[in-house]
Parts: sequence; structure tokens; C-alpha cells
Amino acid sequence: MRVTFASEAAPGHPNEDFIASTPDALVLLDGAGTPVDSESGCVHGVAWYARSLGSTLLAGMTQGTGTLTEILAEGIKAVASLHDFICDLDHPGSPSATVIMIRRTAGVLDFLVLADSVLVLDVIGAAEPTVVCDKREATVGTPYRAAMDALDTGSSAHVTAHRRYVETLRDHRNRDGGFWIAAVDPLTAEQALTGTVRADQVRAVALLSDGASRLVDRFHLASWRQALGILEESGPDELIRQVREAEHADPAGSRWPRGKTHDNATAAYCLLSGEGFSVRRPEPGAE
Ligand SMILES: [Zn+2]
Repeated sequence: MRVTFASEAAPGHPNEDFIASTPDALVLLDGAGTPVDSESGCVHGVAWYARSLGSTLLAGMTQGTGTLTEILAEGIKAVASLHDFICDLDHPGSPSATVIMIRRTAGVLDFLVLADSVLVLDVIGAAEPTVVCDKREATVGTPYRAAMDALDTGSSAHVTAHRRYVETLRDHRNRDGGFWIAAVDPLTAEQALTGTVRADQVRAVALLSDGASRLVDRFHLASWRQALGILEESGPDELIRQVREAEHADPAGSRWPRGKTHDNATAAYCLLSGEGFSVRRPEPGAE
């Protein structure tokens, strides 16, 4: 695979997304942020959790032969063992992260998606890309959003409403009827969306944290097809630049209500097929 990626923190915040790759495996995590003045029971923080789990999963994919679900379950267990003797892992706000895993072996591409990061598969011959994303958190959260969305993003009332929203959603985290995200319990891995496709049937795949996918699924400024085009022609940096441009044009969230004006944004693009790949040559006469 030919892999390119970019990850950019929300201005003034630590980057709680994590992205890492080998030529045959790729992992993207989006750590669920802990709002200001909210407890988590963990002294390490969300960025540490996303980095620790992400690097453990990449190691598992490159060294192990298990299914992606098994590797995720083992990874959640391994990271819990790194801090269960210091931190309160029973705390409802303990760090958590969305997960996307991609692995290519023997002509097939395995994928796993847990929670609301977005995987886009550009299947050869299909007019529209296949989008894999678990929207259960958004569905569960819809009834609780109205109070937050009515306020200007960034105002102190909005900050309070956002904290309440996040804390309310914790009651639905990793429960039947709620939504599922990597945190402490290895059994959560069984809730992930998984699949396998023949590698020669896929032209490219894109992985996006929700801070990057918002260009399409919240701002509606591009289709998934157009997002793939931006990633291929201009690169992940350009997609994130367009997200920031839109956010700056709507700082208070009046056009696009959202929990945070800016979010950590990560985008990766993996080209599997040589089809369409072109070599750039200098113009005749150019230095
Ligand atoms: Zn901890």
C-alpha cells in the first residue's frame, strides 16, 4: 500500500488522535476527550491512552496472526494492565478511543471499525465509495444535543452544556442499547464492525477521525467521492485545511452546531491499486 496521512490538533489542545502505519497495516484512533472540570479516574490522560492502544494494535497486526477483533481485545486488555494498579478503571470517564484497523495479507484486506471514525473504501467499478462507520453514539446522543446546540460554541454556557452532554453519554457507554468504544473491557472488541475484501477489488481506502470527516458528514461541503479526490490529488493536509477553513467561517457553530469549534483532525489515504497512479515529470525546459 502507498500510505499518506496527516494529523492536526485542534488549536490550543493536545492531539488525542493517533495514527501509525507500516506498508501493510494501519491504525487510527480518536481519543474521546475529557471536558474541562470533568473527572476521568486516570492520571495518564486520553492522548496517552490513544497512543498506547494504537501502538499496541499496530504491533499486534504486524507480529500476530489473529483476527483484528482478537488483536483489539488483546490490546485493550494489555493497555488496561499498564495502569489498573494506579488508576480507577471503573470510573465512567476513564479514557476511551475509537479504533480503525486495516491489514493487508495474502491478497485480502481486513478492516475493523469501532465507534465513529470513518472508513471509506473505494471499490473498483463502484460509482459510490463504501462508507463504514458506527453511528450509535450520535444516535444515542441526539435527544441530549438540543440544549447544547442552541448555544454559541465556545461560550461559557456552551462549555457547561457540552460537559453535561459528555457526562450524560457516559451512562450509555459500552452498554447494550448504547454505543461501544475501546476503553477497559476487552469484550467491547466484539461490537466492532469488521470485514474482508479482496485487495485487488479495492482501489484505495481512506481513514478519517470525526474531526476530519466533518467536512462531509457535518458540513456537507464535499461528497465522500470528492473527499477521496482531495486526498489523492492534494493529500491529507489539504483535506484538513478545508475543514479548518470551514470551522473558521462558522466559529460560533450557528451554521453547523457542534460540540467543539475545532476538533483534532486526522486523515489517511492508502492507495492499493497502481491504476491511475502517475509519475510527475518536470516540464520540458524546467530547472
Ligand atoms: Zn491511567
